[in-house]
Amino acid sequence: MAATETASPGETEALAAQLAQRLTPGDVVLVSGELGAGKTTFVRGAARALGVQGPVTSPTFTIARRYEDGRVPISHLDLFRLEGLDAEEPELLADELAPDRIAFVEWPEQSGPDLGAARIAARVRLEHLGADRRRVIIDG
Ligand code: ADP
Ligand code: MG
Repeated sequence: MAATETASPGETEALAAQLAQRLTPGDVVLVSGELGAGKTTFVRGAARALGVQGPVTSPTFTIARRYEDGRVPISHLDLFRLEGLDAEEPELLADELAPDRIAFVEWPEQSGPDLGAARIAARVRLEHLGADRRRVIIDG
């Protein structure tokens, strides 16, 4: 487990880029933290490092976004609103947490047991430290 403090969104993206170097298809990265902690910023940094050129924005209202223009297909999930989508949930997760993709999951604590079957490559936790400072804890 490694804890680092960042002082800007760019520093958080750079940390994510380091983690991205060792990800391979089938890996799932869980990204936790309060609203505005920097989860989407972290995923953006990782996606950029994996070659994604297009916008990487919050999938809060769509649950999942796919980025197909990088070196590996990527899924970016935000499960904040998952509650109430029970019927779609197992299929959605199976499609996105697939062996040929790398998946990043914001609000993983909202998911059911389906996530448990995924190969969790890392657990990331972001914490507010005031203004632009964040603590980024990477486990795994
Ligand atoms: P979340 O997905 O956790 O809700 P976002 O990544 O969407 O968070 O938003 C984080 C916000 O905080 C962005 O506006 C970002 O620019 C800002 N920010 C300021 N400092 C940092 C930092 N050190 N790391 C990450 N984001 C930061
Ligand atoms: Mg977000």
